[in-house]
Amino acid sequence: MGASETDAMFPAIFAITVVGAALYYFAPERQRERILASPFPPEWESFLRANNPLYGFLPPALQKELRDRVKVFLAEKDFEGCGGLHITDEIRVTIASIACMLLLNRAVGHYPRLKSILVYPSAYYSHDKAEVRLGESWGDGTVALAWDDVKKSARDFRDGHNLVLHEFAHQLDQEDGQADGVPVLEQSSRYFGFAKVMGHEYERLVRLTDKGRKDVLHPYGATNPAEFFAVATETFFEKPKQLAKKHPELYQELKDFFHLDPLTWSQKPSASEG
Ligand SMILES: [Zn+2]
Repeated sequence: MGASETDAMFPAIFAITVVGAALYYFAPERQRERILASPFPPEWESFLRANNPLYGFLPPALQKELRDRVKVFLAEKDFEGCGGLHITDEIRVTIASIACMLLLNRAVGHYPRLKSILVYPSAYYSHDKAEVRLGESWGDGTVALAWDDVKKSARDFRDGHNLVLHEFAHQLDQEDGQADGVPVLEQSSRYFGFAKVMGHEYERLVRLTDKGRKDVLHPYGATNPAEFFAVATETFFEKPKQLAKKHPELYQELKDFFHLDPLTWSQKPSASEG
């Protein structure tokens, strides 16, 4: 090969090499590796401990997974401040960390349909101004949340109300295109048992609510099967002991679905793992 041919080929080889390197560098797997390799800022850890106290009860391996999932979630989702709210790291990290609790210990992506989280300072009017809302979850890739209730409901982690857990349970439910209280299950053989237990428990809550009687599950869960799944999820994480005692079959279904057993989490928040 003569020198002139080599010279002519050099720009082409160089271009191919640069494009190849860029494709390699920006490939989704490489980006994910870089995100996971990046440190978790100490300030973020303090937001987790202050605003998502359940984090402190997780076993160290799940705390590590949660920190990793928060990094990926924040890299992939857009946050938009509404009603004059300025989005801060505290808002992003708090919401991401509570949302990602529902993904722990499961081989699932980070809410693949979800694109944006709209955050209002407090309760806001729905688009048609018909009602005041604290949060909403749409199947088209949007969740809306009132920041003051995000914080309040998460900091009180034993009252059974957690706005972010509630709205992101709806996101899981909506992943198959239907808000019917049945999320995507790992095996198709599990749908029958899941639907049977959830249906039975929902009917029971409707009957109790109609009679004005109280239950560990909030009466809002009697609105429809989708709300039942969202309320049951909040209760599973915030009142595991009462739920397991009063509704053992429901607790077992949620335990199997989430691959988590909040009953076994220590009663004392564990120290930071760095
Ligand atoms: Zn709801």
